[in-house]
Amino acid sequence: MQIIDGKKTAQDIKKEIAAEVAAMVEAGQRPPHLAAILVGNDGGSETYVANKVKACEDCGFESSTLRFDDTITEDQLIAEIQRLNEDPNVDGFIVQLPLPKHINEERVIEAIDYHKDVDGFQPINVGRLSIGLPCFKSATPSGIIELLDRYGIETKGKHAVVIGRSNIVGKPIAMLLMQKAQPGDCTVTVCHSSTKNLKEICLQADIVIAALGRPEFVKEDMIKPGAVVIDVGTTRVPDASRPSGYRLCGDVDYANVAEKCSFITPVPGGVGPMTICSLMKNTLLARKGEVFNF
Ligand code: NAP
Repeated sequence: MQIIDGKKTAQDIKKEIAAEVAAMVEAGQRPPHLAAILVGNDGGSETYVANKVKACEDCGFESSTLRFDDTITEDQLIAEIQRLNEDPNVDGFIVQLPLPKHINEERVIEAIDYHKDVDGFQPINVGRLSIGLPCFKSATPSGIIELLDRYGIETKGKHAVVIGRSNIVGKPIAMLLMQKAQPGDCTVTVCHSSTKNLKEICLQADIVIAALGRPEFVKEDMIKPGAVVIDVGTTRVPDASRPSGYRLCGDVDYANVAEKCSFITPVPGGVGPMTICSLMKNTLLARKGEVFNF
């Protein structure tokens, strides 16, 4: 069994990006600029945005965070998005989710210019992804593909089972794995909370992508010997032994599943670090303006 080290891979990729950015700056160009919109005071979102700011520093990017009170109206927020859409010094930006209840997230995401949608959530990017056109691929699925690629995992003709059908993980990773590409070219089954015989389906999988948000849901009796297991889940579970009072738990019962696998991602240190890394890659692509030129 080999552990897929997302933390190390993400560090390597950030170094590659930083070297490219240093060369750009050396050549007199401005570095990439990623902006983030943060509404309200959600603790998880604050941490996530702080991690993005740190990743921008590591890569030599400029970053800015636009903070708004949770009393901002939907129209005011959309006006801020328009400003970023038109700002020539901002290459890409993200709107940190979740937004307060009174704001329609779909309308907000749709307002983002898809050329700057480095999260890959805007419907134009989602549509382009689904038909295999160049686009900003959403960060977590893109990070998973990068891990499969960098670890030389053969995917062609394999049966991939994705547990979860969310718009940010399950659906886009299923799309990417089914495309005629390497990594890709899989036969994909997507499971969700209404799926019958989940265990039997998982037992047929050469590759399992667990993205359901249920701690340690995937047990060793659901895994075929030699399968590749990618654990996307990150749920905070209480842990009195930690100063924070919690630990991050994946969707896979790692201790028991690991010994049956050929490859497995740990939590933390697997898919998580790759997500921010993919965002950095997308921002560099946005700066270079090459994504939609074909
Ligand atoms: P989500 O929007 O809550 O979607 C969960 C999906 O899992 C849904 O499709 C749901 O089915 C399905 N599901 C729930 N319980 C199930 C069960 N018992 N059996 C089969 N399917 C079940 O979650 P998400 O946003 O995709 O996130 C999933 C997990 O990944 C979470 O732990 C999240 O924190 C984590 N995550 C991590 C990263 C990272 O960077 N590491 C990024 C994004 C998300 P229905 O559609 O039928 O409800």
